[in-house]
Amino acid sequence: MAVQKIITESDNRLRAPNSKVILIDEEVKKEILDLKDTLASAKNPEGAGLAAPQIGINKKICVVRNYTEDVADPSKVVFQEFVFINPKITSASKETNLDWEACLSVPNKYGRVSRHNKIKVTALDEEGIQFTLKASGYFAQVIQHELDHLMGVLFIDKVVGKIISGKEMEETYHGAYA
Ligand code: ZN
Repeated sequence: MAVQKIITESDNRLRAPNSKVILIDEEVKKEILDLKDTLASAKNPEGAGLAAPQIGINKKICVVRNYTEDVADPSKVVFQEFVFINPKITSASKETNLDWEACLSVPNKYGRVSRHNKIKVTALDEEGIQFTLKASGYFAQVIQHELDHLMGVLFIDKVVGKIISGKEMEETYHGAYA
């Protein structure tokens, strides 16, 4: 297990087809640990999820964090990490949200993307056991972003309106995010 380099926009591996995982062997387990380590090491900016192609592995694997309030101390945010292998959205709400997104593979770009409010996802976990989960809001947004990566799609392909830089984002939205 090790922190891997996160590849960026111009690297073709972000656009290449990703193969289904047939067997969760030692190699796949190592790749999952690499994904977790690499996501954990991304601090500025922090990442809420990471897909295997972002570290140059063209397989249908991603890791997503679900942030919640700490039960013991509501001023703190904690997260639970989910591994999705061969994930598939099995149902999605008609209602959508248009919200800001960014990507560790697309540095310094921000844009609004429309995502389903609620989704249901089926995938295999690290042990190869199938699970289904329901997600809504930000968690659902991040899952949809990561699943796009597994289809070679980047958020910049889907932006509604302008793509702006981190500096523009700060200048324009500073008040709203304070
Ligand atoms: Zn991304």
